[in-house]
Amino acid sequence: MKNFGKKALIKQHSPKRVAWAGALAASLIMLPGIFGGTPALAQQKAERDSLTYGELIQKTDKGEVKRVELDETEQIAKVYLKGQKPDTPPIQVRLLNQNTELINKLKAKNVDFGEISSANSRAAVGLLINLMWILPLVALMLLFLRRSTNASSQAMNFGKSKARFQMEAKTGVKFDDVAGIEEAKEELQEVVTFLKQPERFTAIGARIPKGVLLVGPPGTGKTLLAKAIAGEASVPFFSISGSEFVEMFVGVGASRVRDLFKKAKENAPCLIFIDEIDAVGRQRGAGIGGGNDEREQTLNQLLTEMDGFEGNSGIIIIAATNRPDVLDTALLRPGRFDRQVIVDAPDLKGRQEILKVHSRNKKIDASVSLDAIARRTPGFTGADLANLLNEAAILTARRRKEAITILEIDDAVDRVVAGMEGTALVDSKSKRLIGYHEVGHALIGTLLKDHDPVQKVTLIPRGQALGLTWFTPNEEQGLVSRSQLKARITATLGGRAAEEIVFGKPEVTTGAGNDLQQVTGMARQMVTKFGMSELGPLSLESQSTEVFLGRDWMNKSEYSEEIAAKIDSQVREIVNNCYIKAKELLQEHRIALEHLVDLLIDQETIDGELFRQIVTEHLQLDAQMTDEKLPVSH
Ligand code: ADP
Ligand code: MG
Ligand code: ZN
Repeated sequence: MKNFGKKALIKQHSPKRVAWAGALAASLIMLPGIFGGTPALAQQKAERDSLTYGELIQKTDKGEVKRVELDETEQIAKVYLKGQKPDTPPIQVRLLNQNTELINKLKAKNVDFGEISSANSRAAVGLLINLMWILPLVALMLLFLRRSTNASSQAMNFGKSKARFQMEAKTGVKFDDVAGIEEAKEELQEVVTFLKQPERFTAIGARIPKGVLLVGPPGTGKTLLAKAIAGEASVPFFSISGSEFVEMFVGVGASRVRDLFKKAKENAPCLIFIDEIDAVGRQRGAGIGGGNDEREQTLNQLLTEMDGFEGNSGIIIIAATNRPDVLDTALLRPGRFDRQVIVDAPDLKGRQEILKVHSRNKKIDASVSLDAIARRTPGFTGADLANLLNEAAILTARRRKEAITILEIDDAVDRVVAGMEGTALVDSKSKRLIGYHEVGHALIGTLLKDHDPVQKVTLIPRGQALGLTWFTPNEEQGLVSRSQLKARITATLGGRAAEEIVFGKPEVTTGAGNDLQQVTGMARQMVTKFGMSELGPLSLESQSTEVFLGRDWMNKSEYSEEIAAKIDSQVREIVNNCYIKAKELLQEHRIALEHLVDLLIDQETIDGELFRQIVTEHLQLDAQMTDEKLPVSH
């Protein structure tokens, strides 16, 4: 076996093979030690019919040597004698550490000599032979690895991202399906034309924008709008969410972006929709521990792709976010998302329109007025309204009715706003206390002319609340005056005030916790945001109350300790004054309070209309009483 090895070794002694095997030897350092024996043994055998160092020098002197190959690493010289047959192997000679004498002699006698390094190649070829055993082993191990788990198979082909974006050849959504956001629709009408007839713009040299950013709170119809554009232009709709770009493995996001754009280019003209772009598009270098992370790579790839195609290649990118303030400024530069379209929560008219759209495929009783529903739902987004009508339809089906009536709408509104209805309390003491608390809110809300009208008071628990007082906001809540804010604070404190008046200080409950939180918030805003206190018209807080990592982290407090103390005392003053006012009002109208609480406990719900009627009757009674008393007191 070993001899065979040696023969093979000599035959394979071609320079190309040596270089390749040398590289292998370098990569598997641990192996030469194990197979070092092969060349050593072979060498001993060869030495038997060889010359000594001295004999070699003698032969050189005599001029019998034709050629010498010196191998410094193995300290061997291969000697070819003159008159030797061409196919006989060279004679091997053991060298010394320093062979200067020999080399000088060879030079002097003009003998052809050179250096070779057979040792490395020998070891390497030895390795090669042994690798034949190892390679199948490694291959086997790989096979096992592949089969073992899903995760590891994912790990092996990461980077070749699986397509995570969705493609819809036809969205089937039209502009008619989007309502209540007319301005946004008008602006985007143009995008449809870009996609449909780009010649109209390119003919006169206009650059077609590449990207449009839709900015607005969730549920206002941004996705719907993007789909409608694709639907109107009848082009394919590619969509991906920003959060899907950001994955565990570095580089996956970037390769997803590449894939997406590649597919889009193949299908141009088309529309790419990137939802939640803030998930990838945040200001770079802002996060704590920032630096060159996965998200940044993804964002860079996105920017590169956007720069990489011409405006008139027929691809339009629409991105949606509700946080335009955190976006990287590079995204908003010309040639990228240079157009911004605001998609806000709808106003009264908008809500009517949206309700119309969503009632198209529902059976609604003729007595129901969409206008009235729109009035009852300020602040609802398109998604909320769609949900509201759906809830009403479900309730109608459950009650086995033919068509949705106002009763189902009412219940659905309550459900959407405050969660599921529970069953009324039986325990009469806490029921009484909650009754006073709620009537306290409602009575003050009714007595103060700056307050929104009561819609209903109820003792039926809902979600977290044990009882509830609903107010109808009179008009759109655009501007709110100082006296309206104070009225709200007073009415919100009415619950606790009633508890204290009726049951005394030691008996007040935790029921007012949420109220107090709201009150403090409102009062603080009056002082720091709206300039409605003695501190004057100053804004003492930055616009955003949330802290973004890295951005607003640093400049959180913009005022001194001294101002902070003043703010606190102003807030306290506002709240205290309102609380005193609330208690005064309730004491003054104690009879009305008792009357209303009795009624509420009996009926569990009092409608706003009835509530106002009872309060008015009491006010008239009071007025009569003062009138009758007047002559007496004079
Ligand atoms: P966003 O993407 O802004 O969060 P969506 O477009 O996903 O909101 O809206 C969710 C659903 O709400 C839509 O599928 C649609 O049924 C309804 N909707 C939202 N806004 C509108 C609107 N302006 N007009 C009609 N329906 C709307
Ligand atoms: Mg959306
Ligand atoms: Zn309350």
